[in-house]
Amino acid sequence: MPSSTPTPARSASPLRVTVWHEYRHEKKSKAVQEVYPDGMHTVMKSAIEENFQGDVEVRIATLDEPEHGLTDEVLASTDVMTWWGHSAHHEVSDETVEKVVRRVYEGMGLVVLHSGHYAKVFKRLMGTTCSLKWREAAERERLWCVNPGHPIADGMEKDYFELDHTEMYGELFDIPTPDELVFVSWFEGGEVFRSGCCWTRGKGKIFYFRPGHETFPIYFNKDVRRVLANGVKHVAPRSSVPYTLKAPQIKVPLSPIGSKHEVDPSLHK
Ligand code: ZN
Repeated sequence: MPSSTPTPARSASPLRVTVWHEYRHEKKSKAVQEVYPDGMHTVMKSAIEENFQGDVEVRIATLDEPEHGLTDEVLASTDVMTWWGHSAHHEVSDETVEKVVRRVYEGMGLVVLHSGHYAKVFKRLMGTTCSLKWREAAERERLWCVNPGHPIADGMEKDYFELDHTEMYGELFDIPTPDELVFVSWFEGGEVFRSGCCWTRGKGKIFYFRPGHETFPIYFNKDVRRVLANGVKHVAPRSSVPYTLKAPQIKVPLSPIGSKHEVDPSLHK
């Protein structure tokens, strides 16, 4: 386990969000540029801002910036990070991955989007392959809410919402059983998928949300925008009390222990 560091105190308000984006497709693909001329990150940023109505500070960090935009200063002053990557997961340095994972253990919230299922950060936190089935056929997706009282589902007008043209993700999604499941998707072509999943790692909350393929205008959809913002709110840190990431030996007990026991220190090396 990484060594313990104090959890940076969270300012009371506003919530400090870092939208991390690989930001490669928009530079190379005309089709993606047409959907997201200013980059997908700008659309995610506006989705969070409009749903928070001012009680949030959102900044952008991208892969090609020094340290991928995730300096120690940025990480220490981030309450919630959102993560979108697709074709360059392998280019994210292991050092940055370790730092992000440590911040999650310390309490930073993490929202992983769409193809971020294969991000190093997500795989490290899940401990599984995070593999799935996929098909790009512009098919209909119906996202059923299976946990209507969950804060991430807040604001839904019906039991489900639909996206007309999506890339399909299908089971088996190789993830640990989610602590909470919020959405299950049905696809026109027949597959199903656990598309809104929550976990806790250390003090940090994680939300995986499936929609978001780069050639479809998914992040302009009002339901997706609200769920994204709800997810950010839900994984926000609850306290700034430090979380111990080491395994300290407690030589002096809190109350007296009656038995006599000789410790062989060589067994603990
Ligand atoms: Zn995709």
